[in-house]
Amino acid sequence: MIMPRFNCAHRFLLATLLWTGATTGAEPPAAPSTGPSTATSLEDVAYTLPNILRKVPKLKHDATGRLPLVSIEIFKMSKDDQSFSEGKPLPPEMIRELKARGFTQYIIPDEKYIAYAQALQKEGAGVVMVQGLAFNGPPDEVPNSMHILPEGYKGLERPGQQPKFPCPMVLDGWVKKQGEYRALFRKYKEAGVKVDGVWLDWEIEPYAGDAQRDEAKHCSRCREQFPKGVLEDKERYRAFIDRWRVQIFSAYLVAPIFESYPGIPVNNWEEIISTIDLPTPSWSGSRMNAHYDIGMYSATNPVAYGNTIWKKYNWKGEWNWPLDVAHMDRVYTQVMLGQFSRDAANIMRVAPETRSIPWVDRYCADDRDPSIPILSRTRYREILRHLWLRGADTMQVFNPQWFPDDVAKTAIVTEELEDVVMVYDEMLAYRKFLDDGQVMNTEIIQATDDGGFWSGLRLGDQAIVRTFTQGASTVKVKIRPFEKAEEIELDCPPAGATFFLNLSEGKVVVEAKP
Ligand SMILES: [Zn+2]
Repeated sequence: MIMPRFNCAHRFLLATLLWTGATTGAEPPAAPSTGPSTATSLEDVAYTLPNILRKVPKLKHDATGRLPLVSIEIFKMSKDDQSFSEGKPLPPEMIRELKARGFTQYIIPDEKYIAYAQALQKEGAGVVMVQGLAFNGPPDEVPNSMHILPEGYKGLERPGQQPKFPCPMVLDGWVKKQGEYRALFRKYKEAGVKVDGVWLDWEIEPYAGDAQRDEAKHCSRCREQFPKGVLEDKERYRAFIDRWRVQIFSAYLVAPIFESYPGIPVNNWEEIISTIDLPTPSWSGSRMNAHYDIGMYSATNPVAYGNTIWKKYNWKGEWNWPLDVAHMDRVYTQVMLGQFSRDAANIMRVAPETRSIPWVDRYCADDRDPSIPILSRTRYREILRHLWLRGADTMQVFNPQWFPDDVAKTAIVTEELEDVVMVYDEMLAYRKFLDDGQVMNTEIIQATDDGGFWSGLRLGDQAIVRTFTQGASTVKVKIRPFEKAEEIELDCPPAGATFFLNLSEGKVVVEAKP
């Protein structure tokens, strides 16, 4: 699954062209629409703050003190706004407008962004760092970290940007990076910055691919340094590198962050918990992880993407389904709830203190075949509700500009924010459950399921539950929300339903919410 990881890393290589000419002044709509965009020009749909503030309503519920949302696309005043790359903060009123929608502009872990962090902090917006990296990572900065290969060694096919892989056991580059991170986070601390979280997106070596193993096998140094038997066996190599990778990141990245900011949530791309008897699927849903532990990370990063390439990996010809929105929605639903739900189940089993901070995305165009339907907005919103009710602590929105010349697809970049904010606001009505509730159900859903599906959070004698079905008509689901009471039956309509449950004198009182 190395290839799709690189696709994802491309978010940081995407051109950051933006179109504007935005006008402002109109009041935001009371509730965002779910229909296709009616915009006709790139100016209308440009991802600029004036457009975003016009289209994305403010939260009606208070989110103060919660981890903020972030989006991968930088918030800019106009297409020519280079402030972010120069480390210049947005105007205070713009920081407040984003905060009113649950968002903060993330910053990059770099000294240049200390002033930005201070500006965010002054407005009570969260300080969240995001950093993406691809390819070899820190070993690239230290000569002599690469494999020592026999003359004429060709190797297996690999990304063009990686003519050689680094020796996984050589740590010189990591020692250097650890020192840089230690010094950097001390500077933030000395500047009085309260960092709320660090979301890493370091999709870098070591990975346990075939090309990596082949190269390591041919490297004279790796043959000396690797534990006996690991290089010779594909499965042992994968297990070793998976563990080693988490350990390297723990020691050299997470530890220096914690030295200055003990206990803050820190995650990295697709780091999740998996156990032998309850394996967590990969983000694509097409491969199961073996035992996987997150080391020093204090948060997992399950990935819930409406990625068009899930058609290739998860669609089964034996279904004989037409390739339409309704059926592709089923595939998206299976994959997007799969990794998240299993990770949530494993968090509860082995490390319940762990935060869950997913990447979410309605439209990820890794397969650009136009015949593959995009995930519908209504189903995307349904999926988001279930992520919150299965323990998401906040969300990272992956909304890159896939087709910058296409008006409808550029509109999606802002719609991604609308959908996330709308569902977040809906769930914030039950904030105490989001803050302190216990996840009630982590059962997974298959594309072919027509039965009742539900998620919920319980707090004491109360619970909030969401149900739905992929089938054409309402079905019922039996659940036992409280140990001290009997099973109850809830409707699961195709459009979804939310219920507030209250345990009163041994009986469950069910209240349907709008
Ligand atoms: Zn080597």
